[in-house]
Amino acid sequence: MNHVYQEGKAFAKSYILPYTERTDKESSFPEESFKELGERGFLKLLIPEEYGGFGKGLEEHAQACLAFAETCSTTALCYMMHNVAVMCLVTHGSEELKKKIFADIIENGTFMALAYSEFGTGTHFYITEMTAKVNGDSTTFTGKKSMVTSAAYASYYLVLAPSVEEGKINNWVVPLESEGLSFETSEWNGLGMRGNSSCPMNLNQVTLHSSYRIGAEGSGEEQVFNVVAPFFITGLGAVYSGTAMHMYEIASSHAVNRKYPDGSSLSAIETIQVHIGNMYKQASAAKAITLEAARAGVTGEADALAKILSARIFASEAAIECGRLAMRVGGGKAYNKALPLERLLRDAYAGQIMAPSADVLSVWLGKALTGQMIP
Ligand SMILES: Cc1cc2nc3c(=O)[nH]c(=O)nc-3n(C[C@H](O)[C@H](O)[C@H](O)COP(=O)(O)OP(=O)(O)OC[C@H]3O[C@@H](n4cnc5c(N)ncnc54)[C@H](O)[C@@H]3O)c2cc1C
Repeated sequence: MNHVYQEGKAFAKSYILPYTERTDKESSFPEESFKELGERGFLKLLIPEEYGGFGKGLEEHAQACLAFAETCSTTALCYMMHNVAVMCLVTHGSEELKKKIFADIIENGTFMALAYSEFGTGTHFYITEMTAKVNGDSTTFTGKKSMVTSAAYASYYLVLAPSVEEGKINNWVVPLESEGLSFETSEWNGLGMRGNSSCPMNLNQVTLHSSYRIGAEGSGEEQVFNVVAPFFITGLGAVYSGTAMHMYEIASSHAVNRKYPDGSSLSAIETIQVHIGNMYKQASAAKAITLEAARAGVTGEADALAKILSARIFASEAAIECGRLAMRVGGGKAYNKALPLERLLRDAYAGQIMAPSADVLSVWLGKALTGQMIP
């Protein structure tokens, strides 16, 4: 896979677009699209070549998420989470864990999810109130995660839990079939991203062998800040840039095609032209800064972190602003859902609150730029 963005666009047209409306209306997980994501290789995008994957990195991750979000924000977000989980395994997983899970993803089209946030600690997801009792080679987990995207559909869930080392955490892989694992799927009723299945997950005395821990004892925080953060935050930048671009495309096409009785087009009105211009400006700037942040992340530039944080904050805000303007351009047709702009505006609202939220990241950005510790 050499032109990930272009291949992602072509994939989305054939295998995501047909289900996008239904995903939102019926709040149904895009299962058909995920089956195709497996068959056409996107689930193995970040899996190293020696395990049978494409061995791609942060830039291609951003390109794929962006391409999918320009068609369906929900599918892009669920896919994004899978890639982040895969990357934790790539960088910190044991040989045994990598072989087992990567083979399952590649051969059976299974995928992964992130079960980090809890009801108590909320947006500060790296702080966990789970209990983890160690007994020889086994650890027994009890606790509850609050919003798990792809819940009950993904085959593996990354879970943060306390380490035996005081004040440290571990990152574990919990397989779907683990005894004591359950989901409250009826509790997902999001404003947007309706197909996400982002519901609570219960761990009631789930016991795992130590081989399911990713990395060394107590290395969870390092994984959160060095792997999850860049891939997740850049991925969110890509998802919301794509959502913003999607809104611009729909609104501008509507403005050109909507004709008044005298034959004139909505797009001939100057105020509409200004709205369309502002949407394009926001969406293309979000897209550009996200791709630039991914590039800077790969080359390890000094201000890569600041760029990644800026991209995610800017894209989240741009998507909401594009939604506001798109609803003005779309008028009654948008309001009455004859155009999918209302759906995209609802999807966009998830951007500012997904952890770490845009407000939290704004503080982190200031800290990063002034040489202070994050968080
Ligand atoms: C569509 C969607 C999908 C999700 N999927 C997942 C998933 O797959 N896995 C997962 O682990 N989680 C997921 N989440 C959960 C999400 O990442 C957050 O953890 C969750 O939304 C936090 O909700 P809360 O009400 O507990 O936030 P709270 O912690 O109560 O925060 C409430 C508000 O206060 C603000 N705030 C809190 N602390 C600060 C601070 N120090 N500085 C500035 N502002 C602050 C926040 O910005 C937030 O808007 C998802 C959320 C959404 C909306």
